[in-house]
Amino acid sequence: MNTQDRDFFKRFLHERIEELRAEAGKAVGTMDEEENFPDPTDRAAMESNRNSMLRMRDRERKLIFKMEEALERLEAGEYGVCEECGEEIGIARLKARPVTTLCIQCKSDQEDEEKKARRVV
Ligand SMILES: [Zn+2]
Repeated sequence: MNTQDRDFFKRFLHERIEELRAEAGKAVGTMDEEENFPDPTDRAAMESNRNSMLRMRDRERKLIFKMEEALERLEAGEYGVCEECGEEIGIARLKARPVTTLCIQCKSDQEDEEKKARRVV
């Protein structure tokens, strides 16, 4: 990975983090504006909305965290290196999945392992 690539991912990750934070802020705003629903059906619908929103926000928080970690690796010069085998992950894969820490080979090995483990259980 050259300096240009590093700059690209640095900007890219910062922008994505900003976007996600803005989205999270919006979600909180909508939740505050919610009215009281006297009808139980409406209330149930609202609660399932709220649950899916909370799940979404949880995912966003985790993604922000992963992106911050990716930025730290970038600063440390470890970004784009597979943590399993130490090979370069590859720019194309990083552009598709900027928070990945595994190269495509190790990722598919891991998925095979997970599938095997699930079959046993
Ligand atoms: Zn690997």
